[in-house]
Amino acid sequence: MIATTDADLIIVGGGLVGAALAAALADTPLSILLLEDQPAVFDPPADDWDARIYAISRASQRLLARIGAWQRLDPQRVQPVASMRIFGDDGRSQLAFSALEAGVDELAVIVENRELLRALWARLALASNVTVLAPAKPDRLAIDAHAARLTLVDGRELTARLVVGADGARSWVRGACAIAVAQHAYEQFGVVANFECAQPHRGTAHQWFFDDGVLAWLPLPGQRLSMVWSCDAARQRELLAMAPSALAETVAAAGGRRLGDLRQTGKTAAFPLQLNHVAHMVQARIALVGDAAHTVHPLAGQGVNLGFGDVAELAGILGAEAPQRCGDYLVLRRYERARREPVQLMQSVCDGLQKLFNNRNPLLKTLRNLGLGLTDQQAWLKHQLIRHAMDA
Ligand SMILES: Cc1cc2nc3c(=O)[nH]c(=O)nc-3n(C[C@H](O)[C@H](O)[C@H](O)COP(=O)(O)OP(=O)(O)OC[C@H]3O[C@@H](n4cnc5c(N)ncnc54)[C@H](O)[C@@H]3O)c2cc1C
Repeated sequence: MIATTDADLIIVGGGLVGAALAAALADTPLSILLLEDQPAVFDPPADDWDARIYAISRASQRLLARIGAWQRLDPQRVQPVASMRIFGDDGRSQLAFSALEAGVDELAVIVENRELLRALWARLALASNVTVLAPAKPDRLAIDAHAARLTLVDGRELTARLVVGADGARSWVRGACAIAVAQHAYEQFGVVANFECAQPHRGTAHQWFFDDGVLAWLPLPGQRLSMVWSCDAARQRELLAMAPSALAETVAAAGGRRLGDLRQTGKTAAFPLQLNHVAHMVQARIALVGDAAHTVHPLAGQGVNLGFGDVAELAGILGAEAPQRCGDYLVLRRYERARREPVQLMQSVCDGLQKLFNNRNPLLKTLRNLGLGLTDQQAWLKHQLIRHAMDA
């Protein structure tokens, strides 16, 4: 065993999942270094809304509350989802979920990426055992029986018992450890933008399945909504090139003007969508969490919730072990085994739905619209679907 390390644990990536892992292990006996490529500045201009938003499940809310982040969110920037309406592509089929019917306070809560990051990093600032290096970028990683040695681009050398890759879908840590990843590009992009709407949304989320994509309107506080339009490259280019008034008109028309006229606020952005499936989430002295370990299509809004599930599991396992054992393969394997099934299930469900709806076959079109309508009539089935999504 080596005599000293700079830390028990180095987390590479201070996005939502990496920051949540550091916060979940705050004030434990583990010493933690959190490396983030970007400067840590999250203060929002008061009147501006982040176009990157998340539907946070009940399970993720519980985790975020437990680690001291949820209570640091500005309540004015948090929107509960009271109901959800899903529309098929035949102009008639619908599926509706409501918190009232399900006997719960809300189906999910919508929060901006930037606001969640701010709350997590505010919690980290109080942690006695977490040192933040930001901006900092790793250059080389070497692993031996005793430690992982990380050399930064600026020449600093760090050693730790465990390195966690929380560095997103194009993970540097995953590449440096040569962990194989099967990638399936959906040849789709998620186009995001925020709007003010003429009519109140009453906490309702809307989603339309078209045969060439999926449009979601997620409610934001006040008369605002956030759009995620999963579409092909040509439509993405078209949407990105539109002036704000033309985009607002196109989005309002695509959603059948359910909330009246729209007015765009802020900018339009787009992200490529792909499914990443890694061969291993762990090796000796290495663990992957969040998008570094898995990505899913955003149609079910579950990507970051899966990452928070990784955090709950890994923090539970590491917190119960002696710090000296945190990089042991057998300890890390317990994390991998626990996460394999929920991750694969969510990837299969999202991938299956994407394939079912992104298809012009007339038989499939009839079947999927029939499926929406039939599900809508099954109160018990809807109840189960809600419970599963909330606790995912
Ligand atoms: C259009 C779209 C809509 C989505 N909507 C939803 C939704 O509604 N609900 C949901 O749950 N999920 C959603 N997702 C998925 C969600 O964005 C991701 O699952 C989530 O951001 C993953 O968080 P992460 O911390 O693992 O990775 P990231 O958010 O990618 O964070 C990685 C962090 O690591 C840092 N980093 C990267 N490389 C390095 C390096 N070499 N060194 C140091 N730091 C590094 C980055 O700067 C970043 O801060 C959506 C995704 C897309 C594309």
